[in-house]
Amino acid sequence: MMNCLGCYTESKEAYCLSCRKILFDKAKVSSLLAFDAPNINNRDLFQEHSKRMSISGVQLKYSLHREKTSLILCEKDGHYLLKPVPPIRTLLYVNDVPENEHLTMQMASQVFQINTAANALIYFRDKEPAYITRRFDVRNDGRKYQQEDFAQLTRRSKPTHGAAFKYNGTYEEIGLLIKQYVGAARAVLENFFKLIVFNYVISNGDAHLKNFSLIRRENGEYTLTPAYDLMSTVIHTPNESDTALGLYEGDMDAPFYATYGCYGRSSFMELANRFGIVEARALRIIDQFPAKEESMKTLINASFLSEEVKKLYINNVKEKLKRIIAA
Ligand SMILES: [Zn+2]
Repeated sequence: MMNCLGCYTESKEAYCLSCRKILFDKAKVSSLLAFDAPNINNRDLFQEHSKRMSISGVQLKYSLHREKTSLILCEKDGHYLLKPVPPIRTLLYVNDVPENEHLTMQMASQVFQINTAANALIYFRDKEPAYITRRFDVRNDGRKYQQEDFAQLTRRSKPTHGAAFKYNGTYEEIGLLIKQYVGAARAVLENFFKLIVFNYVISNGDAHLKNFSLIRRENGEYTLTPAYDLMSTVIHTPNESDTALGLYEGDMDAPFYATYGCYGRSSFMELANRFGIVEARALRIIDQFPAKEESMKTLINASFLSEEVKKLYINNVKEKLKRIIAA
């Protein structure tokens, strides 16, 4: 027996049946890709297939499609995105980046029932790890759902707001747009609020405007996409700020922030208030996090992170939980 590379449960195979279902429509895909990780010798293979793929931050993404049980690099419109260890030596614990993303996505869905893109860990032929995720915007027949991220929706781009445009704005702004575009806005806003608290608790300092999107389903309605790109970024870039965006305009003037220099329970309660989430519901969402500390720890310890990074991850969570417990 081993642990499934998708959900960590004990499994006879690399991917358990339920992970195979959501990732590969039940196909027995190997956890070992048929090609090596990007390196000096095979760079052309990857570049040839990545012409139209965007590079978000420093993480390269490759497009894959599946033919029966094989995953094959393709130029565009693949059903999967593959994210190898980033080739950036200034990141700390760089080899843990793929598993950090995989663990964090699993924690969001397993521990907090946050709707996430299907994901797993996979290995290149040379045993280098990579994060793999199934695209939710591509249908089986290859057609794409219309999708817009919140940089597009708030009309921010490099020409209008400079190189750091995606770090410009607040989560409140995103919430107001959800209210405006999404039919069942109340439930969606509560889920969005939970995701923001989650990102804070697990120290994701890179949840910027492009990491949230609306998608238009067949019925023509817009909704928030499943969560993607979740990671405890502080492990790799310890000097970045706690959140990529402010919670709301003027959040730093509130008493808690003015006293402690960071967000606390009252900061998130104020954000919930601005979203129109009733107090009891907001409290219930926030209080899930300290209540699930042990479940988070169990999953972190079951992950494929290095022992050192597991400890760091757990300690960081502990620190953040203290803040959201404090008024
Ligand atoms: Zn599984």
